[in-house]
Amino acid sequence: MADPKTTDSTDISAATATLPDDAALARRAMGWTHTARFLTTASRLEQLPQTELPEIAFVGRSNAGKSTAINTLTQQKRLAFASKTPGRTQHINLFELGPRDAADALFADLPGYGYAAVSRTDKQRWQKVMADYLDVRRSLAGVVLMVDPRLGFTDLDLQLLDFVGPRLANGSVKLLVLLTKADKLNRRDADRALQQARDTLAGISTEDSDIGVTLFSALSKRGVDDTAVVLRSWVDSLRALAQPVA
Ligand code: GDP
Repeated sequence: MADPKTTDSTDISAATATLPDDAALARRAMGWTHTARFLTTASRLEQLPQTELPEIAFVGRSNAGKSTAINTLTQQKRLAFASKTPGRTQHINLFELGPRDAADALFADLPGYGYAAVSRTDKQRWQKVMADYLDVRRSLAGVVLMVDPRLGFTDLDLQLLDFVGPRLANGSVKLLVLLTKADKLNRRDADRALQQARDTLAGISTEDSDIGVTLFSALSKRGVDDTAVVLRSWVDSLRALAQPVA
């Protein structure tokens, strides 16, 4: 077992965010996330387009702040709005990023789960969609899991991590946990939430895994730049791997 790279997006930001190189990196990453545009919506996995583009899935319990996080990251007020439309809440919504004529990545907004009023059948359906998506989607490069730090990881969050466990363990799928609505926490509670998340993630971290956690707030913008930089680095690292060796 190895320590999760939980300091990537937290300690680094505290220490170096003011350096010019980091500012440039953040600007570039935020410019890239801003290019996100709606591609398609699918109620079934078979309807998702087959693609070679690296895909980053956004997942989380209903109300964890997923839509707000996507809108904040992409600096677009209503991008993730479709996911909230009645009848669309169980859909997978895909967004394309990069130059219009040469897209380089996809964001997938997956259905929120665990809403208290949801029936057992709906919960089972959710589990199947998630398990299948995480299993069959070969282009999946990373998962961004939104967790409300006042609730911590729920059973369904842990189940989801379990679905994708083998791919997290060998590093083929990366994970970033956003502890959302961080503006609602005082410093002590924020530190405690971060530590608890690190402890949970230590249980699934290996030498090969790439697992991070950061506090995130749409209101104060805490963690937003760092998140964009991490997601951009996932895509860059895959592109570097795909380059033929000269
Ligand atoms: P989703 O169901 O996971 O997509 O959650 P939403 O993005 O709709 O957010 C759920 C609620 O949390 C909404 O009332 C948001 O305004 C609120 N919320 C989301 N992000 C933040 C944040 O960073 N700070 C605060 N204070 N509230 C937030």
